[in-house]
Amino acid sequence: MFQQNYPSVQHDYQFELNKDFNFSAAHYIPSEDAGKCMRTHGHTYFVNLTIAGDTLDHNGFLVNFSELKKIVHGQFDHQLLNELPQFTGKSPSTEVVAQTIYEMVQSALDERQNKPQCLQVYVRETPTSYVVFRPKETSHE
Ligand SMILES: [Zn+2]
Repeated sequence: MFQQNYPSVQHDYQFELNKDFNFSAAHYIPSEDAGKCMRTHGHTYFVNLTIAGDTLDHNGFLVNFSELKKIVHGQFDHQLLNELPQFTGKSPSTEVVAQTIYEMVQSALDERQNKPQCLQVYVRETPTSYVVFRPKETSHE
């Protein structure tokens, strides 16, 4: 699909999984000082998720790769992000999109018995702009 080097995260987990996927969506930044970003426009967002853990499930997975993609792609692809419940009252900037993806992915991971952690969400919005979101601390052990 596509290959790229991503910034790496320091951690002590035994297993680290990375999943790439992309989705296409429209958004606008709802404020006067956002310049032309105020107008509705679209991006193909490229996402890389970094998931880690010490325990595998009965399939030998930290989490199924396709499940990870489904969590985000299924909800964001070909949507106007501003209209989604995840962005109610928020500005869907690249930073907020990355943080929101983290929250969606981690809450899905929290339902798994082997308790994997999302350590990093990389979101590329344009060929020259990307954001990396890392949770400050993992509230789970
Ligand atoms: Zn934009």
